[in-house]
Amino acid sequence: MNNKTLVMIPGPTPVASSIRTEMGREIQAFGDPRFVKDYKEVIDDLGQLFGCDGKTFVIAGSGTCGMEMAIANSTKKGDDVLVISHGFFGDRFIELCTRKGLNVDVLQSEWGKTVELNLIEAKLKEKNYAAITVTHVDTSTGVAADVAEIGEIMKKFPDTLYIVDGVCSTAAHYENLSEMNIDILLTGTQKAFGVPPGLFMLWANQKTLKRREGLGTIPEYYVDFDKWIPIMDDPLKYFATPAVNLVWALKESVAIIKAEGLKARAERHHKHARAVQKALEALGFSILAEESCRAITLSNAIYPEGIDDAVFRKTLLDEGIVVAGGLGAYAGKLFRLGHMGNIETNDLVAALSTIERALAKAGKLKAHGIGVGTYLAEIAK
Ligand code: PMP
Repeated sequence: MNNKTLVMIPGPTPVASSIRTEMGREIQAFGDPRFVKDYKEVIDDLGQLFGCDGKTFVIAGSGTCGMEMAIANSTKKGDDVLVISHGFFGDRFIELCTRKGLNVDVLQSEWGKTVELNLIEAKLKEKNYAAITVTHVDTSTGVAADVAEIGEIMKKFPDTLYIVDGVCSTAAHYENLSEMNIDILLTGTQKAFGVPPGLFMLWANQKTLKRREGLGTIPEYYVDFDKWIPIMDDPLKYFATPAVNLVWALKESVAIIKAEGLKARAERHHKHARAVQKALEALGFSILAEESCRAITLSNAIYPEGIDDAVFRKTLLDEGIVVAGGLGAYAGKLFRLGHMGNIETNDLVAALSTIERALAKAGKLKAHGIGVGTYLAEIAK
């Protein structure tokens, strides 16, 4: 019998009990002074935590809505944009920008690798791009981009806004707008924040706000900065109904993050990720992302010969662990294990021991304890 399912996909991630409690609170009117105070506090805290000198937005919608908001408020039809893509979610910007009528240039890496920095710099010299988009961690490949290094390059291109999709990185990989020269950062609640899906957060610095001013009235409505800035400044005002309980849940998540510290949180993720990746390799999987660019939020584990993806993941599910399948050309060839947010050692031990049992069932396990043992030895170092 299995009465507990541990969701170990790369988002939504397990939700800590104190965050769940906030989700279950009795509703308040969004104009209730207590909620207004809570909403304002979370907006201000997030702005400070991620080094934003402009505006921070906390709005109902998923990460994709954040991507749309970033493009809508930084570009106009006919502008040139550069998309750096390390997989499926990097590519998402191509359609989004094309639909807006932007001229899109793309630098794509082979899945598992990053686009070389000198290629990015050379491309930026070709045109006066309005913006460049970089997906910090592409969830389809488990590749982490060189966000800080690209930020250094961006100093040479002051007219180009640097947009970072942090949906699968923010609050795990270290990020800071002013330190990394990022102009817009966007993310969602359901991954490293460990909050249920439903909110996106977007940080826009002063440079971006100036660009927005120059655009005048934009065609987009729900994601227009001008509609939301008055609300983010004073949440007593109304534009569209806030997701009250999610805001509380996020506030609790931010309290957890502040207590841990962003850098310590990144270190914790790093330690667990590298240990999990070693454990998976010891079990016969190979990690799609090259070692030099591996994310710390998830692992994309390519099956050894002779494993059927559907059967393997069904076995895990029957034993109480949910992982995600591969995307694109890697569908059926790998599974994706999330290890971000407020997950604990016990969650990863449970996931690895279940992976071992599924391997045993497929006749592919050398000995019980190899994965769990490797992981535990690594995190004890
Ligand atoms: N970007 C990245 C890197 C993602 O992983 C995802 C979702 N997995 C998105 C964007 C889209 O976010 P959402 O599904 O919340 O719209």
